[in-house]
Amino acid sequence: MHRLSVLVVLCVAAALIQGCSQQIMNGSSLVIKEIAIAPKSVPKLKEEDLIDLSPYDREPTEWGEQVKGVKTQMQTNERKIALTFDACGGDHGNGYDEELLLFLKEEKIPATLFVNERWIHANEALFLDLADNPLFQIENHGTHHSPLSVNGGEAWGIPATQSPQEAYNEIMQNHDTVKGLTGREMAMFRSGTAYYDEVAVELAVNLGYDVVNFDVLGDAGATYSGEQVKNALLGSQKGSIVLLHMNQPGSGTAEGVKLAIPLLRDQGFEFVLLEDEILK
Ligand SMILES: [Zn+2]
Repeated sequence: MHRLSVLVVLCVAAALIQGCSQQIMNGSSLVIKEIAIAPKSVPKLKEEDLIDLSPYDREPTEWGEQVKGVKTQMQTNERKIALTFDACGGDHGNGYDEELLLFLKEEKIPATLFVNERWIHANEALFLDLADNPLFQIENHGTHHSPLSVNGGEAWGIPATQSPQEAYNEIMQNHDTVKGLTGREMAMFRSGTAYYDEVAVELAVNLGYDVVNFDVLGDAGATYSGEQVKNALLGSQKGSIVLLHMNQPGSGTAEGVKLAIPLLRDQGFEFVLLEDEILK
C-alpha cells in the first residue's frame, strides 16, 4: 500500500456514501472530508486507502493460474507442506466439511483457509470459530469468487472482473469484511478459479497482498475420489502448496486427506502455515 502514490479516490463505498463521484471531481482533500462525515456503518477510508488505479488500466498479456507474480511454492529445503483449503461460497459452495475440519483439529494440523465473502456470510459462526483457532490462518478468496482481471475474460465459464476498480473491490470488500469481523488484515489472496492476468496480480501486490496459488492440485475442485486426493497429496515435495477445498462435505477430500497425512508424516513431512514461510 505504501508503495502507491496517493492521488485519486476509490469510491469503494460508492453505494453507501452519497455524492462520492461528485466529490472525486472536486479533488482529494474534499473526498477525505466527505468520507469523514459518512454514516457510522461505513468503514472510514484512511488516506492510504485512496489509491490511483490508472496504472492498472492497461492491456494484460498473460491469463492463467501461473502468471507473473503468482506464488506457487514455499522457499525451503525442509520437508514442509502447506495445506490450503478454499471455501468458495455461492449456491453450490456454502457447505462445510465438518469431518475434514474435525480431523485437522484432532491431529493438530495447521492449514491456511482461503475464504470467500459469500461463504463467510453463510457460515458466520463457523467462520469466527475457525478464525479464532491458532491452527488456522485465514486468507482472502475474494468477494464474488471472480477470476481476477483488469479487463474481463473468463475461467471455467465464470466471468472475470472487468476493470481495475472491479478487481480492487473483489479483493478489498472481503478484506474489509474479515477485518470488521476479526480485526485481521489478510495479506494473501487467491481468486475464485485461481485465474488472473498479470496486471491484476500487480494491483493485488501493491495492495499489500501475496497472490498464492499451488503446485499440487489436491482435489481438482473437490471432484476427486478419496484415493485420487490421497495420490495427489503423496506427490507433494519440499515446499509444496496444496490446493484443496473445505466447502464440499460430499467430496473425497476429507477421506483423501485422512489417508495421506499419516503417510506423509511417516516420510518426515510436517505441515506449516504459509504466514511462517517465504513464498516463491
Ligand atoms: Zn473457490
